[in-house]
Amino acid sequence: MYAEVILPLAVPGCFTFGVPEGMGGVEPGVRVAVPFGRGGKLYGGLIRTLTEQAPASAVPRDILSVLDQAPIVTQPQLRLWERIAEHYMCTLGEVMIAALPGQMNLSSETRILVNPFVLDEPHRTDRAGLLIEALVQREALSMKQAGEVMGLKDPMPAIKRLIDEGVVIVEEELRDPWKPRMTTYVRLAPGSDHEEALHQWFDKLESKAPKQLHLLMRFVELSRCMSDAPVEVERNRLLHASGASSATLKQLVEKGLFETYEREAGVPAASRIDAPGPPLSPAQLAALEQVREGFREKEVVLLRGVTSSGKTELYATLINEAVRDGGQVLYLLPEIALTTQVIERLRARFGERIAVFHSRMPPHERAELWMRMASRQMASSIIVGARSALFLPFADLRLVVVDEEHDPSYKQHDPAPRYNARDMAVVLAGLHGAKTLLGSATPCLESLYNARSGKYGYAELLTRYGDVAMPGISIVDLRDAQRRRSMRGHFSQTLIDAIQGALAKREQAILFQNRRGYVPVWQCESCAWVPNCDHCDVSLTYHKSLHQLRCHYCGRTYPPPVHCPQCASNRLRMIGFGTEKIEEELGLLFPEARVARMDQDTTRGRQALDRILTGFAQGAIDILVGTQMVTKGLDFDHVSTVGILSADSLLRFPDFRAHERAFQLMAQVAGRSGRREKPGHVVIQAFDARNAVLDLVTRHDVEGFYSREAEHRRAHGYPPFMRLLSVTLRHRQEERVAAAAASLAMVLREGLGERVLGPDIPAVAWVKDRHIRNLLVKLRRSAHAEEKRFVREAIDRVFAQPEHRAVQLIIDVDPM
Ligand code: ADP
Ligand code: ZN
Ligand code: ZN
Repeated sequence: MYAEVILPLAVPGCFTFGVPEGMGGVEPGVRVAVPFGRGGKLYGGLIRTLTEQAPASAVPRDILSVLDQAPIVTQPQLRLWERIAEHYMCTLGEVMIAALPGQMNLSSETRILVNPFVLDEPHRTDRAGLLIEALVQREALSMKQAGEVMGLKDPMPAIKRLIDEGVVIVEEELRDPWKPRMTTYVRLAPGSDHEEALHQWFDKLESKAPKQLHLLMRFVELSRCMSDAPVEVERNRLLHASGASSATLKQLVEKGLFETYEREAGVPAASRIDAPGPPLSPAQLAALEQVREGFREKEVVLLRGVTSSGKTELYATLINEAVRDGGQVLYLLPEIALTTQVIERLRARFGERIAVFHSRMPPHERAELWMRMASRQMASSIIVGARSALFLPFADLRLVVVDEEHDPSYKQHDPAPRYNARDMAVVLAGLHGAKTLLGSATPCLESLYNARSGKYGYAELLTRYGDVAMPGISIVDLRDAQRRRSMRGHFSQTLIDAIQGALAKREQAILFQNRRGYVPVWQCESCAWVPNCDHCDVSLTYHKSLHQLRCHYCGRTYPPPVHCPQCASNRLRMIGFGTEKIEEELGLLFPEARVARMDQDTTRGRQALDRILTGFAQGAIDILVGTQMVTKGLDFDHVSTVGILSADSLLRFPDFRAHERAFQLMAQVAGRSGRREKPGHVVIQAFDARNAVLDLVTRHDVEGFYSREAEHRRAHGYPPFMRLLSVTLRHRQEERVAAAAASLAMVLREGLGERVLGPDIPAVAWVKDRHIRNLLVKLRRSAHAEEKRFVREAIDRVFAQPEHRAVQLIIDVDPM
C-alpha cells in the first residue's frame, strides 16, 4: 500500500510514500510524519489518496508515523484545494500551508517553545520532561533539535501530543497575541431587578437624590428593562448618556441598586440567543423576494443595496433559515478587525451560533475551531470570518454570504495562493451544493457583468432603511480655490464650513485621505532631490510623531535630512500630504474639536482600533481622519459630514481598475454619512474637478458608472471581458531579470501574440534590493484553462535554461 502525500512546500504535485506493514489509521485526510529531501528532513504531510500502485521511478520511503486519529481534512476541502491550485497556478502544498492553521503545519524547521501561559506543569520524568527542561533553558528549539534532545528519530507524534495538550506551542503563536476587549457593564442588583422594587427606588430617590434618579431613568430607558429585553448597559454608555459622574454610579452600587461587572465587549448576554430580528421593511421584503427568486434558478445571487439600505438584516433572515434545521453558514467579511460592529449585531441575534475565524486570532483557537468542525460538532453554526475562513472543514454548508464583495482585501497578494476569496467562495458553495449571496453597494464590474449576462441572479435594494435620503455630494474645484487663495492648508472653505456646521450641531465628521504619514515626501527646493529608500526605488514618507522617514515598501526607517545631499541646499520643503498632516491641520482649524486618526500606524494593536471605534461610537471623538479604513462598513448614528481631501490621487492611479476603485471608495465613504434622520453631506476636493467619475459619484449613479467603465474595458480587452494573468520576475542583477523577462515574453507571444503585454519596468522597479520586470497576459474567458496550461509550459521551458533559473517568478491570476 502507498500513500500520495501533500507536503507543506512550494513543490508541485504529491509525493508517494510506503505504508509500513501493520501501521494503522492511514487514510486520506490524515497527517503523517514523512522524511523528505536529501537531509531527511521531517514534514507533517497530508494524505491525499491511497493506492496499491507502486511508483514507477524510485523506491519510495516509508511513512514514519500517523499524527491524527481521524481525518482533519474532508474530501470537499481537498477538492477546493485542487481547484485553487489549478486556477491560481500554484502548488497544493502552498494551498495547504494557507489553509491549515499555523500550528497544524509541522516540519523539522518548525520552532517550538514552552507555552508561557501554562504555569504549574507537573514534573515529568519521561522524554517530554527532557524536552521541557531543554526548552526552558534554550527558549526555542526546532523540531529537529527537539528530536535530538528526546533521542527520537521521529519526534513529531510526541511533539504533536504536547501541542495538543497545550504544553508547548509553535513560535508564531506568540507574535501577535490577541486579547478580547473587556468592558464594564451595569445591571440591576438582585432584589432590585423587578418592577415593584424599581418603583420603590424611584420613590426613594425622587426627593433626596435627583442626580441618582436621573441616572436610574436613563438606565431604564437604555436597557428597556421594563420589558423582557436585555437588562444591562455598558458603563461608559450609561455615564455618557446620563451625564452622571462615576461617583454617582458608585453611590447607587453601594446602595444596592446596581451592580457592575466586566466581560468581553460585544458578546451578548446569554438571554439574547436566537433573538428574533426586526421586521423587514417593504423594500427589504421585495429585495428578499428577488434573492429567493434568483436562488430558485441560479447558484449565485448578487445583491446591490445602497449604503445603509439594511443588507445585513436581509442576510440575517436568510442565515436564520439556513441554520434553523441544522445547516451551516459562512459569512465572509473583508477585514475582520474593522467589522466588529457587524459581528456584534449578528451575535446579538444568533448568540452562540456565531463562531469568528480570522488570522489575527491566536492559532490554538483557530486550530480548536477547525478540530471541532472536523469532528462535526458545529451543526447549525454561522462562521463569520475573513478570507481564510473559506478553508474550514464545513460538513453541511447551505449558504455563503460575501459581504462587500467588491473589496480588494478579499484578494491575497502574498504569498501564494494568490486567491480571491469571493471567487473561491462560489467554488466552495458549489462543492457543497450551497447558495452564494454576494452583497455590496458598489459591486465590482465582474459581478455586475455576471449578473447582466444571466450567470448570477440579481436583486436590488435602492432605498436607505427608514427612507433616509442619500447624502448630498458637492465637489470643490481646488484649482479654483487656490487661485482665489481661499485654501487654509489642505482645507477648502466649503469643507471647513461643512465641518464647522457639523460641530455646531454636535454631529460628527469623517475625513478620508488615502495616504498615511505626515507629509509623504520631502523635496529640495533648488534641485528637486527627493530622499529615496536605499533598497527600493521609492521615495520615503515622513512620520512626524516618530520624526522619521519610512519606506512603505520594505519598512526601513531613516533620519530626516537636514540638507540636500545633491546640492547641499538646506531649503527642503514638503510635498503631498498624509493623514498625520491632516490631523495636525485640524488641530489648528478646530482647536476645540476632539480629533482621532485611524490608519495602519494608529491601529497596530487590536485594542487600539477598538478604542478608536468605541470612542467614536460614544461621541468622545468629533472628527475621525483616516485612510481607506474609514470607508469600510462603519455604521454610526451621528456622522453627518464626510470629506474627501484629494480625489485626484485616487483617479490618477496607474491601473486599469483605478476608476472602479475610486468610484467604490468615494461612494463607500460617502455612505458613512447621514445614516439616520440627519441628512448627510459629503465634500469632495479635487483639482480634476470635472472628471466624469466624480460626476457619477455625485449622482450615486452605479449603473451609469458601470456602463461607462464597461465600454472602456471591452474596448481595451480588460476584465470582465478578458481574464488577466500577471507575471513578475525579480533578481538582484538587472541584466538577468531583463533577459529572463524578454525570453519569456517571446515564448508567450508564440501562442498568445498581441495578448502578451510587456515586459514593463514598473513604477517601483527596485524593491528590497531586487530589480523587477512585469508581464501581463490577457486570457480569453472561454479558454483560460487551456491558455494557462500554455503559460505554464512556456514558463517551464524558459526557466529550464540555466541562465534564467535563479530569477524569482511570481504568477498572479486575476490580479487586483
Ligand atoms: P447596509 O449594510 O446596507 O449598509 P445596515 O444593514 O447597516 O445597512 O442597516 C442600516 C441601519 O438600518 C442599521 O443601523 C440597521 O440596524 C438599521 N436597519 C436595517 N434594517 C432594519 C429593520 N428591518 N428594522 C430596524 N432597523 C433596521
Ligand atoms: Zn538639492
Ligand atoms: Zn525600502
